[in-house]
Amino acid sequence: MNLELAKFYCSLCGYETWRGEAFCPQCGAPLEVYSRKAWSIARGSPSMWRYKSMLPRVNNIVSLYEGYTPLRVFRGVKVKDETRNPTGSYIDRGSSVLVSALRFTSAVLSYTPDFTLSLTAYLRASGSDVDVCLQGARAELGELLVSARFGARILFGECAPTVSYENPFMVEGFKTIAYEIYEQAGHVDCISIPAEEGILAYSVARGFMELSELGVAPDIPKIIVAVPASRVKAKIQEALVKLKHVTIENVDDRDIISEVVKLALKGLRVRPISATSYVAAKNKKDCIALLTGTEVKKVRTPQAAAREIRKLTRTQQAVLEIVKREGKATAYEVWRKLGGKVTLRGVYSTIDTLSKIGLLTEELEVRGYRRVKVFSLRS
Ligand SMILES: [Zn+2]
Repeated sequence: MNLELAKFYCSLCGYETWRGEAFCPQCGAPLEVYSRKAWSIARGSPSMWRYKSMLPRVNNIVSLYEGYTPLRVFRGVKVKDETRNPTGSYIDRGSSVLVSALRFTSAVLSYTPDFTLSLTAYLRASGSDVDVCLQGARAELGELLVSARFGARILFGECAPTVSYENPFMVEGFKTIAYEIYEQAGHVDCISIPAEEGILAYSVARGFMELSELGVAPDIPKIIVAVPASRVKAKIQEALVKLKHVTIENVDDRDIISEVVKLALKGLRVRPISATSYVAAKNKKDCIALLTGTEVKKVRTPQAAAREIRKLTRTQQAVLEIVKREGKATAYEVWRKLGGKVTLRGVYSTIDTLSKIGLLTEELEVRGYRRVKVFSLRS
């Protein structure tokens, strides 16, 4: 999708624009990307792209298997575990939509915890150069190191970022949390979502509203927006409270820290902001807490993700097996080894998909007098 061709709208007041602004100039709500939506689930797709028909249309999906995260019960509270995303946070959902929709050859990011790492991973996967700029010297070193390992350049000083967290394409990605909870649990009474800015809570609430508008889910769950008391209110609180079904709740910072410690002792390392929603959900009946991100910055590689998920199609698995066994192979050689079970064209398209999701890498080789494309597993 070309940014100039995307239409953005405000669902609160009806404002429309063709410019890529983040917030509605009339009422301050986050803008959303207009696209014709229909509810269907691509069940073979082990990522949030199973709701492709609910997402902006893109030519090439840049995916690291984001979303499709589990609902688990943790110490008696049902949680939606977003720490299981490729870079450990829900932001990967937004990054995947944004990078798939707006292709970049280079991008400048202003350092923001979680966001920078997530977007760097997706931009690098799409082949873009990334500069991360730091104002001052405060940053989480672990995140910067992982970003640098991905090939980002670290710069110091003021810069003009290419994209920011408050981007309508991010909002569309975050909405998939609502679609997924609906697919996994059907109707739920209540969801607790942590908020600093409030964009995530706004997006998830809007995701549920869309399901209701499309006639898919008749009831919208009660959305508890959990704001740390020290923060007083979320940045877009005025817009949030205009959404029906949304209740704001302030959570004592001491309770948050004590819950972070308790969860960590039980093996779940979450950021304090994630524990905010956990505290708010704990004392309610049937309330799902959205755990947004982990403190541990260990990025799952696409290969590990694929292994973990084991949801590749049978053809994709067979192609990977052959390439692994051969070390290197052309598409034709893979087709020959498959023994006619798949058409040559099918093999080309499978290899294309596996390259796009980062499992295969291609290079040119000379065979006789010809130059051929050979594929190998990405290390
Ligand atoms: Zn508006």
